[in-house]
Amino acid sequence: MDEVWDTIIIGAGSAGMAAAIYAARFNLKVLVIGKEVGGLLNESHNVENYPGYKSITGIDLMLKFKEHMDNLDVPTKTEWVTEVKAENYDDPKKCIYNVITDKGEYKGKTIIFTNGTKHRKLNAKGEEALSGKGVSYCATCDAAFYKNIPVAIVGGGDSAALAGQLVSEFASKVYVIVRKNKMRAEPINLQRLEKNEKVEILYETEVEEILGENLVEKIILSKEYNGSKELPVEGVFIEIGQIIQSELAEKMGVTLNERKEIIINENSETNLRGVYAAGDVGNKEYKQALTGASEGAIAAFAAYALLQKIHEGEDVDVRY
Ligand code: NDP
Repeated sequence: MDEVWDTIIIGAGSAGMAAAIYAARFNLKVLVIGKEVGGLLNESHNVENYPGYKSITGIDLMLKFKEHMDNLDVPTKTEWVTEVKAENYDDPKKCIYNVITDKGEYKGKTIIFTNGTKHRKLNAKGEEALSGKGVSYCATCDAAFYKNIPVAIVGGGDSAALAGQLVSEFASKVYVIVRKNKMRAEPINLQRLEKNEKVEILYETEVEEILGENLVEKIILSKEYNGSKELPVEGVFIEIGQIIQSELAEKMGVTLNERKEIIINENSETNLRGVYAAGDVGNKEYKQALTGASEGAIAAFAAYALLQKIHEGEDVDVRY
């Protein structure tokens, strides 16, 4: 008989690792499967709003989560999940979720989706060809390569504001290209950006094309800046938000909203019994390391309560 886990957590970012810590402390047999421990938070240069840390890099915060999880002996698999299938869904006592990955197959009594998001592409002409040759989706990873040269940041959210600040520590000049007439970054991040002498914010402007022989040399803007639509930059950081990675959940019958986020209730439950979601893959309005971790903890509580009920032969809600 194959090993059956009490809960399998798909995704190893802040939400997934918090869920794992709580599940392990409930004595649940928990497995974490994630392509990368830490997830997108690894790319956050500076996190200044996680209580307990006045300022910490995303990667260091995630290493602390990992250390905590390891201390509870939670196994992690660095694998890519390709499918999740329910077996015997109508019988809560026999219901098993089969998690198929690129390397194997695992069985879980409950599932917690915490597989977050991936970077949104701009889909501008030249973007794909110059990706990795001056076009980057990760300022934290690549900012230091852009010393003393002009660069552009595309986007108007928090990520763009934070990237602008970071890249300005290296680049000679930073143009932040915002398609609307205002940025929607956190006020404190926007104020820092506006005060930064190396940064210029170009509003109501889009990037139509990225040009360069082998490396980025310039971008073409949708409207003129200083008398020309051509802007000479040698780097373009694309910071225009994320795409929700909810296809796995959708394929197994989990309900999504119009933004493709998994719909969860206050207990991090989805429409399927024993299936939970937490963090950026879910439909909560505010998405932060802290709120994701909190939803992950709640999912572990709910999974524990469900398994207790099933174990004690109590009736459980069959949800669809
Ligand atoms: P957001 O979705 O908040 O913002 C995306 C920005 O990109 C918007 O300004 C949007 O423009 C713009 N955009 C989208 N598509 C295009 C396009 N095709 N061309 C030009 N511009 C485009 O994404 P963020 O990554 O900034 O933030 C995501 C979430 O993560 C937020 O909730 C944020 O608060 C959070 N975050 C938290 C951090 C932390 O915990 N410290 C750090 C960084 C982010 P428009 O406004 O016109 O839609």
